[in-house]
Amino acid sequence: MISVIQADITKLDVDAIVNAANNSLLGGGGVDGAIHHAAGPELLRVCQSIGGCPTGEARITAGFLLTAKWVIHTVGPVWHGGGQNESDLLANAYQNSLELALEYNARSIAFPAISTGVYGFPKENAASIALSVIQRCENRFSEIICCCFCSEDRFIYERLLAEPD
Ligand code: ADP
Repeated sequence: MISVIQADITKLDVDAIVNAANNSLLGGGGVDGAIHHAAGPELLRVCQSIGGCPTGEARITAGFLLTAKWVIHTVGPVWHGGGQNESDLLANAYQNSLELALEYNARSIAFPAISTGVYGFPKENAASIALSVIQRCENRFSEIICCCFCSEDRFIYERLLAEPD
């Protein structure tokens, strides 16, 4: 099942939440900052030991003080106008996160709108890429949540989901 909600991802009771991290995995602003703040300082310590993550790939840690058991840290692309493979890299970030979740037997997972904040990826285009990857894996999870932070994002996801294939 795919659901679209408007919420703070750090509050969700799911097996895994996905973090829109940066290449260093050492924390940042936006959803990354919120996740590190809510998970507590142990998360940063473990992330330091991972040694970074290339764009489009994903790494997993415990959720520490979060309700979620796992945090899957993925790095979406910075938007440079669309000519630098941004769409494939964003699809890879979703796909690799889902595969890592399956490897760790996570049955429920929540995604933020990766790359659409500071990284500047156009929202509608990003949501469409996210949903097409998520829909391909839908039947392997009990729930995949698209966790939107603002109503504008929620409306985009809801509209795209309602469109016939
Ligand atoms: P990026 O650097 O990948 O663009 P950002 O964190 O700047 O990442 O933004 C990604 C998305 O996460 C944006 O839609 C932003 O509104 C959203 N966001 C920020 N804080 C939270 C949160 N606590 N829960 C869910 N989504 C959030």
